[in-house]
Amino acid sequence: MTYRGRIAPSPTGYLHLGHARTFWTAQQRARERGGVLVLRNEDLDASRARPEFVRAMLEDLPWFGFAWQEGPDVGGPFAPYNQSERLPFYRAAFEQLRAGGFIYSCTCSRRDIQQAVRAPHALDDEVIYPGTCRGKQGMEFGTLKCSWRFRVPDGESVSFVDGALGSQSFVAGRDFGDFVLWRHDNVPSYQLAVVVDDAAMQISEVVRGADLLVSTARQLLLYRALRLRPPGFFHCPLMVDERGERLAKRHESLSLRQLRAAGKEPAELRAGW
Ligand SMILES: [Zn+2]
Repeated sequence: MTYRGRIAPSPTGYLHLGHARTFWTAQQRARERGGVLVLRNEDLDASRARPEFVRAMLEDLPWFGFAWQEGPDVGGPFAPYNQSERLPFYRAAFEQLRAGGFIYSCTCSRRDIQQAVRAPHALDDEVIYPGTCRGKQGMEFGTLKCSWRFRVPDGESVSFVDGALGSQSFVAGRDFGDFVLWRHDNVPSYQLAVVVDDAAMQISEVVRGADLLVSTARQLLLYRALRLRPPGFFHCPLMVDERGERLAKRHESLSLRQLRAAGKEPAELRAGW
């Protein structure tokens, strides 16, 4: 089987060195295995994604030394590669999950949830949903201000072997709770879109930041519910600044765009990677 990896930026800002570090690992792993690298544009959130950031992504990534064999600019056998053009796939998966009884509608506001739970948090700091709407009568799809949640099997351990970090195990209902599958503003959630796309694009290994480790447990439950074969996972340590803080979009000076404008050379930025 051919190794198929992917890099999947969101065009909600300029890419920075922290993104590039993780993407570089993804590209290296694909190259070392004679595989294919896919670029997927995760532009589902229309309120935050902007076309100028898509253009910047398509310029800054090649400048830094990235090359992909499939993507929104070059096409490929699993097109389209823009998530905003893939809504029918997400909707089909949603219907499959609803028919299987895996999801339920939720009318709680963020404030309702915070007041109900006295703040138990998942390992990745997401609030654990208290299950208020679990037993309620379901709403119609498309109902305003109604989201849809995946019901996790409370108490079940979800285990996997991470390519970088070794054996991992998370307990549903304790380390993470019922998570949003379809948002109240009628956008599929990250968890749903990424599982549907990685499966449809036949990704064999997902390389991404260690901040998504707990989400892998959520996503493994989705793969199982959708009867899809999960890929392998390889979670990279996140880059931190000199104060030990995670690099984020606020580190403007470390955007690839700014580094390029400042005359930096990609090879010099990659030294030691
Ligand atoms: Zn609710």
